[in-house]
Amino acid sequence: MSKQVASPDDFDPKKRAEAEEAVKQTAEHISREDVGEASRSGEEKFRKLEDDKPSALEEVWEDLKTLIELIGDYVSGDYTETPWNVIAIVAATVIYFVSPIDAIPDFIPILGFVDDAAMVAFCMKILRDDIRKYRAWKDAQEAAREASRTRCGSCGEKIPVGQEKCSNPKCAAA
Ligand SMILES: [Zn+2]
Repeated sequence: MSKQVASPDDFDPKKRAEAEEAVKQTAEHISREDVGEASRSGEEKFRKLEDDKPSALEEVWEDLKTLIELIGDYVSGDYTETPWNVIAIVAATVIYFVSPIDAIPDFIPILGFVDDAAMVAFCMKILRDDIRKYRAWKDAQEAAREASRTRCGSCGEKIPVGQEKCSNPKCAAA
């Protein structure tokens, strides 16, 4: 089964043009501090909406997650392979997701309502190779973390190395 991915072509040309223009103009002015702020507030808003995703963003939700993780790993210094111009575009997209008005720094042109989902789809399309590379790194990180877990001798639940007891409340060993 192939995963359905939102494409910029799914959006009407006006929305698409607005999204592309907003991303490009914003990315030109992004500073490192803006990337840090986009990462923090992006993560916060994502978590807040996770249990009640806006329907307009449902299709791009996983992609949005990847974009937020990408700038998060860039800011923390865990993954710095991504070129700056790519980081700026990702941060611009996240900034628009965070808020269409409130959190947008003054230098950013307000182009009216820009479709967040169209921006994410555009971002994923033009940055496909960089994002694929990041995703491969992220998956390897997660696999390594998973591999370093051991299992509870009693219930079989995975527990992180260094943690002696199982945290499963139903487990006798807990
Ligand atoms: Zn257990």
